[in-house]
Amino acid sequence: MAPPEPPLWPVTSTVLGNQGGEGTTDTLPATYHYYDATGKHAVGDPAEDTLAFLQRELSLGSLTGMLRHLWFTGANRPAMPLHYHLAVGREIVVVDRMDLHLLWTNEGRLFVKPVSRFLLNPAFCQINLQCPSACSCDNLAATCRTAPRKVALGFLYTYACLISSESDFYIANEKRLLPCNGDNKPIRWEDWKILARELIQMLERDSSTMHPRFLRAELRLSRINTIHRFTHLPRFDPYFRSRHNYSGLFGDNLAWMATATVFVVLVLTAMQVGLATERLKGDDAFQQASYGFTVFAILAPMCAFGSVVLVALLHLIKDLPLLLSGQRTRRERRHTMSNATLGGVA
Ligand SMILES: [Zn+2]
Repeated sequence: MAPPEPPLWPVTSTVLGNQGGEGTTDTLPATYHYYDATGKHAVGDPAEDTLAFLQRELSLGSLTGMLRHLWFTGANRPAMPLHYHLAVGREIVVVDRMDLHLLWTNEGRLFVKPVSRFLLNPAFCQINLQCPSACSCDNLAATCRTAPRKVALGFLYTYACLISSESDFYIANEKRLLPCNGDNKPIRWEDWKILARELIQMLERDSSTMHPRFLRAELRLSRINTIHRFTHLPRFDPYFRSRHNYSGLFGDNLAWMATATVFVVLVLTAMQVGLATERLKGDDAFQQASYGFTVFAILAPMCAFGSVVLVALLHLIKDLPLLLSGQRTRRERRHTMSNATLGGVA
């Protein structure tokens, strides 16, 4: 029996016109940020190692490990159009991270990743996001492009849902969510309609062509943070913190601890009332439960707050070498500058 054909890049619409030859790297961004094997932040040239860039650009990060918990964070439905988000008072915040695409905060911010130019170049995607002919796709071979291709198609599908009417198209162009043509003119509405309908048909034919994360479009960030706190190490670390300081760490954690404390106080009050009644006063099981819960109510807040302080201390210890090296560099720079000034005066 002949081996099955490898999955192909199914999108053929060229909304940006001719972008200069098959598989051109001119559609790639100027640089990209990543963390190297030692965990150090680095900036790379996407044209130098296109595969590494695509794996970084089309990565869902820790969201991949949370797939089975995503029912808690958002409904199983396509993305709502852009005008709806504005109508319910959400602010569209442009963010260039695939794992933050369509996450929304309780403060009314909706993170949206703009469409990368290279994803609208079928010639580039057919070369770089298509599995090689010998790919079996049943193991995680380095040459297999299944994961980034599914993410790319799911991402493009969310745009077919976000930009439904001409009003959505206008909002997307105003927010610079869509790339411009070579002559710096926006994509034509007629061309966008062809691409959007092609993406919808793709999903109708086979929903497995896109990554399952995109089956649930908008996800609530506060619930993603809750899942992350209890499923990843170090504990109590949220998925995404908008405030990058220690007061932010305490602020994020004190909010859920205050909510939990209110519930504990409610239960304790109910138990106190129960113990005052004749029927429950002599009930051994209720007495036992009240005793256990009272001990829990004393110890739990202390342990939770102690854990947050411990996490803050661990972060401080982790950041200390970086802070000290930064301070040393600044001191050396000041020293060099003062030497240069003295040299100039002499
Ligand atoms: Zn493959």
